[in-house]
Amino acid sequence: MRFRFFQAAVVAALSVFVAFPAAQGPTAASYTVVTRTGRQPLAVRVVNGQEMFSLDDLARLFALTVRDDTLAGGITVSANNQTIVMTPQQPLASIGGRMISLPAAPVREGRTWLVPVDFVARALAPVSQQRIELRKPSRLLLVGDVRIPRVAARSEALGAVTRVTVDVAPATPHTVSQEGTRLLLRFDADALDIGDIRITPGDVLQGLHPGDSPSILAFDLGPRFASFRVSDQPPPAPNAGRVVVELLAQTEAAPGGQPNAVPPGQPPPAEPPLLDLPSPGGLRTIVIDPGHGGDDPGAKGANGTLEKNVTLAIARKLKASLESRLGVRVMLTRESDQNISVDQRAALANNNKADIFLSIHASASVRPGTSGAEVFSLIAGDDAARAGQGTSESLPVLGGGNRDIQVIPWETAQARFLDQSASLARTLAAALREHVAMSPRALVQAPLRVLVGANTPAALVETGFLTNPAQEKQLAGDDYQNAIVVALVDGIVRFRAAGAGAAR
Ligand SMILES: [Zn+2]
Repeated sequence: MRFRFFQAAVVAALSVFVAFPAAQGPTAASYTVVTRTGRQPLAVRVVNGQEMFSLDDLARLFALTVRDDTLAGGITVSANNQTIVMTPQQPLASIGGRMISLPAAPVREGRTWLVPVDFVARALAPVSQQRIELRKPSRLLLVGDVRIPRVAARSEALGAVTRVTVDVAPATPHTVSQEGTRLLLRFDADALDIGDIRITPGDVLQGLHPGDSPSILAFDLGPRFASFRVSDQPPPAPNAGRVVVELLAQTEAAPGGQPNAVPPGQPPPAEPPLLDLPSPGGLRTIVIDPGHGGDDPGAKGANGTLEKNVTLAIARKLKASLESRLGVRVMLTRESDQNISVDQRAALANNNKADIFLSIHASASVRPGTSGAEVFSLIAGDDAARAGQGTSESLPVLGGGNRDIQVIPWETAQARFLDQSASLARTLAAALREHVAMSPRALVQAPLRVLVGANTPAALVETGFLTNPAQEKQLAGDDYQNAIVVALVDGIVRFRAAGAGAAR
């Protein structure tokens, strides 16, 4: 419906559209595009106070096809078989019929178009198969699986101890070593997004700045520096970490004692985060369940692709992506090709107080034409009880055939999470729809045994149909698996942003 309206607007715009060349606006500091293979600048133009990227630059970076629709006066941007449509009249874009707003309309400059920098986050990121993250405060554009935690630091002089508090989000493993007159705080990351550094230079600590390698924060030590100690302190927020480095001064330089000296090793008082951290919405632990495994291969494609292998590959990628993007703890119910009972899977989630339980599967149908992703949550109450009666071990599948998941009588663990689980499933289905084709029944409530025992919001994703030859090929390949992962991470981010998650 909304897409039709948009098309009408494009047509109406035809008669009044004149391509005003943009005034040569001032340039602003460029963004830095960071990928696994390197970094490069991305120029920014300022038009009417709006920072904009050139669509030509974005097309080169992200392999986009940009077409001027001269008849309609619009612009179409194609990426991954998805099309973004814009017009120069409106601060809007249509992505496959879904409208998103932009802070300003596109502007023509010479032979290219300029689009607001937010275009990247709002329009391009949702259609991309790789992660695209726009960090406006630090003018970074992260592409793919790069780990660039945000870091901020502050120092306090406490007599013989200079205490440096470093916050890092997400929490990131780190080491500290002394090299000559420098102390190097090295993070297990590709680079650091260094924010506020507030230190008072003295004769123990003279400076704090990025090190020679991009994952290092370097402390310049002063002439009175004697030794240091490092401790991990309680995190300032669930999605961040806090490292405290105490620098101890040589004591002989202060005859007569130091009345204000604080003994080293004293934990600093709880302080607010040094970083501006988004609310984590209560998400700390996510349990991902790669379906089947061991003696149970699950569904099988005509070319021999086994569901158990597809689910494990997707689950591993999802774990890595969730950990780097959300800073949450992610556990897999199985790490390898092993037998795990359905009840053990939910138990792992419960034992670890998971905030989300997500089971990953791939479907089978007697109709090879059936394809697309589906998301299941547990059905409520009497319907579940009825559906669960008997000993049937599979669910009928739309179009014939059977689903490979057991059906069981109603139990209570999942009962109080039914609404949240339905909301999680809806959010995941909406996010999936932006990245992959969905089956005609994309969102289903069903009595699935693996979800029943989960004492947390829980959903099951059928990532596609292995019985469809084209989809079997997709499911076995990186591109489709990555698209599923990007979609599920987006969905979980939105679920979190909505304040959902288990209240504990
Ligand atoms: Zn399955």
